[in-house]
Amino acid sequence: MVENLEDMSFDIPDGLLDEIQQNIENIIKDFDVPEENKREVIKQINYIYTRTKYLSITDELTGLSNRRYFDNCFEKEYLRAQRYNNKLTLVMFDIDYFKKVNDTYGHQCGDMVLKEIANSALQTFRKTDTVFRFGGEEFVVILTETDIHQAIIPLERFRKTVETLDLTYQNQKINVTVSIGACQYDKSFESKENFLNNTDEALYEAKKSGRNQTIFFNKID
Ligand code: GH3
Ligand code: MG
Ligand code: MG
Repeated sequence: MVENLEDMSFDIPDGLLDEIQQNIENIIKDFDVPEENKREVIKQINYIYTRTKYLSITDELTGLSNRRYFDNCFEKEYLRAQRYNNKLTLVMFDIDYFKKVNDTYGHQCGDMVLKEIANSALQTFRKTDTVFRFGGEEFVVILTETDIHQAIIPLERFRKTVETLDLTYQNQKINVTVSIGACQYDKSFESKENFLNNTDEALYEAKKSGRNQTIFFNKID
């Protein structure tokens, strides 16, 4: 008996769920009922399937991709960079003194700030880059085909956008900033965990050296 679905480790190959869904559709097609009923059932199954798939990879509050989806995408991009030498930059950003926003204006205001920052990130980065809510007030961006030099401009643009966001909650102006850490993939990294830790280290440096800034793990010449 499965106690907790979260604890189960599934290893379903890409595309298998789609195949199962297609099989169900084929089985229904053979049912001896009017065509119209079959079409309706298939439509409903398709809807439930697509919706469930979407919910399983999406963060409810912000609408961004979630941590589960990050693990999946990061693994793929990491392997691609390792195998084909593709340029890959990983970014982590975290809202500065976010606890104070919650404590001063309440949790609802905090939620509004999270959504606004998520929207800014979606608007700043390219469609080929994915922004994830990593947890709480921490986010990750995978910048594909991007080296650290190419990352500087969008990251600084994003940091300044957040700094100048015109946010109000119950007629009060809310100012927020983010600290950003970024790291370009390098062959010397031992694992994807090592890559992620290096990015986190850069974020930690950004916090330590005063917040509202972008720090790169790699040396920039
Ligand atoms: P720092 O600059 O060092 O990052 O400080 P901080 O206050 O941002 O960091 P800290 O880790 O002390 O606090 C993070 C806060 O984020 C605490 C937690 O209540 C809040 N938080 C996490 N998830 C949510 C959420 O979904 N909604 C709201 N409103 N707050 C959240
Ligand atoms: Mg924070
Ligand atoms: Mg944090």
